[in-house]
Amino acid sequence: MNDDRAPRQTTDDAKEHSRPERKCPICGKPATIADDPFCSKRCADVDLNRWLVGLYALPATVDPDDEEPTAD
Ligand SMILES: [Zn+2]
Repeated sequence: MNDDRAPRQTTDDAKEHSRPERKCPICGKPATIADDPFCSKRCADVDLNRWLVGLYALPATVDPDDEEPTAD
């Protein structure tokens, strides 16, 4: 009985799936239901990679000189 996990968002989601008219955020082609919201698995992979790269890039933006000295 884990059905409580998805509240009313389920209805909205079902609506979207019955009308797949959004565009792929990667290449702009019409998205398919199978790979929603992307047009293909390739674009889904591209997005996933971008996401991962972004995650890994985050720590790199931290300047090591920004660390406060622990001497006090
Ligand atoms: Zn695409």
